[in-house]
Amino acid sequence: MQTCNNTAIITSRDALQRHLRLSEDERSFNESLPSSLPMKIPTYFLSLINPEDPNDPLRRQVIPTGSEQIPQGQGTQDPLQEIKYSVTDRLIHRYESRVAFLTTDICPMHCRHCFRRRFTGTFQGPATKVQIEKAALYVETHPKITEILFTGGDVLTLSDACLEAMIRAFRDKRPDLIIRICTRMPASFPMRITENLITMLKRFPTAPFYLMCQFNHPRELTPQAIEAIDRFIDAGIPAMNQTVLLHGVNDDVEVLAELCNRLLAHRIKPYYLFQGDLVEGTAHFRVPLEKGFAIEEALRKRLSGLAMPLYAIDLPEGGGKVPLGRNYLLGKSKEGQWMFRNIEGEIRTYPDPINVEQSDQGHLG
Ligand SMILES: *Cc1c(COP(=O)(O)O)cnc(C)c1O
Ligand code: SF4
Repeated sequence: MQTCNNTAIITSRDALQRHLRLSEDERSFNESLPSSLPMKIPTYFLSLINPEDPNDPLRRQVIPTGSEQIPQGQGTQDPLQEIKYSVTDRLIHRYESRVAFLTTDICPMHCRHCFRRRFTGTFQGPATKVQIEKAALYVETHPKITEILFTGGDVLTLSDACLEAMIRAFRDKRPDLIIRICTRMPASFPMRITENLITMLKRFPTAPFYLMCQFNHPRELTPQAIEAIDRFIDAGIPAMNQTVLLHGVNDDVEVLAELCNRLLAHRIKPYYLFQGDLVEGTAHFRVPLEKGFAIEEALRKRLSGLAMPLYAIDLPEGGGKVPLGRNYLLGKSKEGQWMFRNIEGEIRTYPDPINVEQSDQGHLG
């Protein structure tokens, strides 16, 4: 890794205990269980935690607990069935127009809610040249694919040179391919976003990059984080945010409203608010759907359309992403009017156009 040297990352309970007093649940995390995601906390992120607050929302995201090692029965290793949808080693093709490429399993920080724990931190390292070539060939021969997600792990743990080679491999074959840089680095280790990185990205002007980041709490939006995001946006790379709805972190209207408004004020579009996936070890983070609906409804009342993320769920057993929210469409009345409940709870109707022939109703699919 380039700028994340080990002196700046906490990986053991002993080291952590020099910074804060652990709760019983945190102390009971068994570091030697092989199935567990190891502890990994950059001192930058650790410094954002209030050590006096055992329920600090940033603390909950990074300090391992015994709770996550209690088998729940509901979760699985790979609820999105990414292994089944893999078309080459590390390339997942679940939706027609886009693919996800697991660029590396390495992250500067291990989030306890990580949905890709089956892969994250498993010491497989960055994708090899052969894996990259095979994935690029697949994209070349599937022209319906217009976007690739560089995900992981965290793609920005690659050195600038490795990332450049990876981009080149895909863009040589598909100059038009939109690349999403999916990274938590602006939140976990913003110092990684250097002028060098941005200069390198600017060498690929044939199609856009999109920055997809993950801020889960407004306190993660530090001056350093904002500076990192500014660098991308000033270089013409739009920034989107994907938040995971997490119990005890952000399952609160005030917190999420502040997060979304501050993201928007810093030119980051709130894109998704994700319901927690059924991943083993993350049950204590999952929010009941009814509460999620209530939060979504309250946010929709308060936030502008730009500030409002789409609440969505990735259905178990590889069911795919589905938007979530209260139903505003109630159905069709006896008179053939579409009936809606509006944001104030009033019933309103909308008629279909009159005298439209069946064949004029549009070509779906
Ligand atoms: C979420 C996801 C995508 C991207 O979906 P969008 O709705 O376009 O953001 C692509 N591939 C996989 C496998 C995904 O899980
Ligand atoms: S940065 Fe992303 S991939 Fe890495 S541990 Fe966090 S959620 Fe998982």
